Amino acid sequence: MIVDGFNRVHNYLRISMTDNCNLRCFYCMPEDDYEFTPASRLMQAGEIENIARIFVEHGVNKIRLTGGEPLVRKDAADIILRLSKLPVKLTLTTNGTRLHEFADVIREAGITSLNISLDTLQRDRFLLMTKRDQFEQVRRNIDMMVDAGFHVKVNVVVTKGVNDGEILDFIRWTEQDPIHVRFIEFMPFTGNRWNSDKVFTWQQILEKAGSAFDMVPLQRDKHDTAKKYTVPGHKGTFAVISTMSAPFCSDCNRMRLTADGKMKNCLFSQTETDLLTPFRQGADIVPLIYQSIRDKKKSQGGQFTDKFEMLEAGLIENRSMITIGG
Ligand code: SAM
Ligand code: SF4
Repeated sequence: MIVDGFNRVHNYLRISMTDNCNLRCFYCMPEDDYEFTPASRLMQAGEIENIARIFVEHGVNKIRLTGGEPLVRKDAADIILRLSKLPVKLTLTTNGTRLHEFADVIREAGITSLNISLDTLQRDRFLLMTKRDQFEQVRRNIDMMVDAGFHVKVNVVVTKGVNDGEILDFIRWTEQDPIHVRFIEFMPFTGNRWNSDKVFTWQQILEKAGSAFDMVPLQRDKHDTAKKYTVPGHKGTFAVISTMSAPFCSDCNRMRLTADGKMKNCLFSQTETDLLTPFRQGADIVPLIYQSIRDKKKSQGGQFTDKFEMLEAGLIENRSMITIGG
């Protein structure tokens, strides 16, 4: 078992398949001319499988594939099917643009639950936020996956003054469709021009929701990052991921592997551990994994102060989100 200095057992690995993406979400990809990592520096399909297997041998029982956009990688289907052979619960986070091409592979891999990102229900705003005109495709693909019986979580990054006016529309969507909307507080990463004024907090989201709906809190599972609610009579639910205003590090079980094979023990860790280079040289990477987790800080990579309002985004040392894998 991979356990850190605070007795937290780490059994959940998030693997970034690529830092490439077909959207340009302003909060994730810092610059228009961002240069994607060349394929030779990315973990190859067999390397992802074999490194993942090592984690599984040490207690990992859940793997999430993410990116960048995992489904833009040419060998995405191969990677998904390889990982589906491991004894883990396999899941995927995607921007939804390519799901119509991958629904069969996803089903064949035994994936039953998906996170699909969609920050707005308005086509024009989607174009503004992602710089790509893909709203209709994503919206259709969400319906397709829901109709096919998948458990669909819709990730909505809420940014003050951009899409906070759509919170009620998203909750209304849960009335007829069994979707699970997750409002995510805007987080700071290298280059994303974060400042605390742009964070629309858990409390503000609840106030907004409460102005139109009588909602009921739902039971929280141990490692849940989301505080969940339902409106009686609605088929779906909504939740808030309050990373900034009320972090949930105390029972964190997550580790991350970037597309170029660096292990991060926290989304906000300053340091990372190269696993791919020693793996390619035939070295044993197990001690490196354990050392990385032993070095894990108690909360938010040790970089944040108690109050996010006091945070100086420029002082945070990290990668941009697109190179970490959310
Ligand atoms: N491309 C896929 C997608 O968009 O779902 C997977 C990768 S993306 C980096 C994973 C998740 O991180 C998405 O739900 C995205 O909205 C979220 N995310 C990216 N940057 C963020 C930020 N600055 N604050 C909060 N969430 C962010
Ligand atoms: Fe691409 Fe996902 Fe980042 Fe948007 S959030 S730029 S879809 S990786």
